[in-house]
Amino acid sequence: MRSPGRSWREHPQRYRLEAAKCTGCGRILYPPRVVCPDCGGREFETVTLPRKGTIVTYTVIDVPPTGFQGQAPLVLALVELENGVRTMVQVADVPDMDRLAVGMPVKLEFRRISEDGEAGLIFYGHKAVPA
Ligand SMILES: [Zn+2]
Repeated sequence: MRSPGRSWREHPQRYRLEAAKCTGCGRILYPPRVVCPDCGGREFETVTLPRKGTIVTYTVIDVPPTGFQGQAPLVLALVELENGVRTMVQVADVPDMDRLAVGMPVKLEFRRISEDGEAGLIFYGHKAVPA
């Protein structure tokens, strides 16, 4: 088993699904930011995002970029989680592309995202899979 790549260690919120909740207005930011875009607040508490959500919109990429070869067709979706937070993720394990639809329930799982064979790096992150 190979060790996780750099991005895994440098961005813990990416694998723990941690977001920042503004203590001023309550807005949840994912990924976390330094300043709240709504109220300008700089105080946040860490919250864990729910793993379940639904697809708001999606796009199918027939010719994936470097590092994603072999994953065609690549599906990217904007997923709205149960608490209203929206995040752009890759959708995996779709058994039948005809089932892909707006409103489809999904859950986020921590998966290998891509691999740079030459540099020996593996990138991890969350993918949405049919719930
Ligand atoms: Zn705020």
